[in-house]
Amino acid sequence: MEFATKCLHGGYEPKNGEPGALPIIQSTTFKYDSTEQVAKLFDLEAAGFFYSRLANPTVDNVEKKIAALEGGVGAICTSSGQAACLISLMNLCKAGDHVVACSNLYGGTINLLAVTFKRFGVEITFVDQNKSNAELQQYFRPNTKAVFGETIANPSTDVLDIERIAKLAHDNGVPFIIDNTFATPYLCRPIEFGADIVMHSTTKYLDGHALGVGGVLVDSGNFDWTAHADKFPEFVEPDESYHGCIYTKAFGKAAYIVKARAQLIRDLGCLQSPQNAFYVNLGIETLPLRMEQYCKNALTVAKFLASHDKVKAISYPGLEGDASHALAQKYLRDGKSSGVISFVLKGGRDAGARFIDSLKMVSLEVHVADIKSCVLHPASSTHRQLTDEQLAHAGIDAGSIRLSVGLEDVNDTIADLKQALDQA
Ligand SMILES: *Cc1c(COP(=O)(O)O)cnc(C)c1O
Repeated sequence: MEFATKCLHGGYEPKNGEPGALPIIQSTTFKYDSTEQVAKLFDLEAAGFFYSRLANPTVDNVEKKIAALEGGVGAICTSSGQAACLISLMNLCKAGDHVVACSNLYGGTINLLAVTFKRFGVEITFVDQNKSNAELQQYFRPNTKAVFGETIANPSTDVLDIERIAKLAHDNGVPFIIDNTFATPYLCRPIEFGADIVMHSTTKYLDGHALGVGGVLVDSGNFDWTAHADKFPEFVEPDESYHGCIYTKAFGKAAYIVKARAQLIRDLGCLQSPQNAFYVNLGIETLPLRMEQYCKNALTVAKFLASHDKVKAISYPGLEGDASHALAQKYLRDGKSSGVISFVLKGGRDAGARFIDSLKMVSLEVHVADIKSCVLHPASSTHRQLTDEQLAHAGIDAGSIRLSVGLEDVNDTIADLKQALDQA
């Protein structure tokens, strides 16, 4: 099936007489006839549902659809994008381990890695992703367990050189995890360029209507855990909590994603709710149409902003001359670059605040990649915990404005931006 067809028919395949729309199975539990059947489920010897903290039929269908869209062997829908990021790394790391992360990341991710993971005893080194692989090599340690980056960085919009970073990770015997939130699998399928694990905040374009917070984790099935058994013993040694199950033996290519569910979703309890999975599925049904229009509208807005005399700098990979333009041509569908634009006004932080406060239709919201246009000042909100140095590292000017262009008639969006720029 082609991409747009998978968006509609992937995952849920109704049989004769069953509902055409994905049913919401709003049930915590599932009834069985014998203790033997339940025991097999607990030992991971049979597939099935027994408790919605671990798996649920509605969520399972959406996981199958997203795995198909990304080209992975399996997926887990989580309660938030943050939870997906947490699980993606916890499935690989324990106290005493180390991760190399690209510094151009979502502020919440930087905080999760730099503060919470550090508290757990996992150290993160944030590196400038634009340095050469030879320079980046020096940051790897014997205890490094993963490399982490974003396809299109939030909010700098820098596009990651996925193939190059994947090679760097693989040369060091570790998987490459990528946050594909802004690109969505419609614009980029990182697995095709060598990423091993893909995650999303489904809160953004996948849900698409700003209804539910959620995340997803997808396993490519391509990383060879057995070949790196010294680094990842938990994949190749018996898990006593499942009567000695060896994930690579029992589940082959799906070892990572099964282990993540069996150990971490079980223990931490952050599966997406069936209701929210239903919303994500509904959003995905129209993802190709929406992404096309976001990209078209944002390019029009980016061109308008780039030629405005109050705008000092603008980042949008779809613009010719943008620092990420060449990478966007390589990694994003037809070079299309999502609806997110980052720009700085000549008047800096104060002019930015006046601009945002003068907007009438475009809303000031702590959100991005939304169906309605919205703006945010990252330095005072999503990236507020960062020091000026970390801000600069993440590619953010203290006066940067993040604009998420929605699906309104683009002439209305530009008219609103224009009048607010006049006030700035
Ligand atoms: C929003 C966002 C997250 C966090 O997702 P939540 O659903 O808010 O937990 C992670 N990565 C990126 C790129 C995001 O934009």
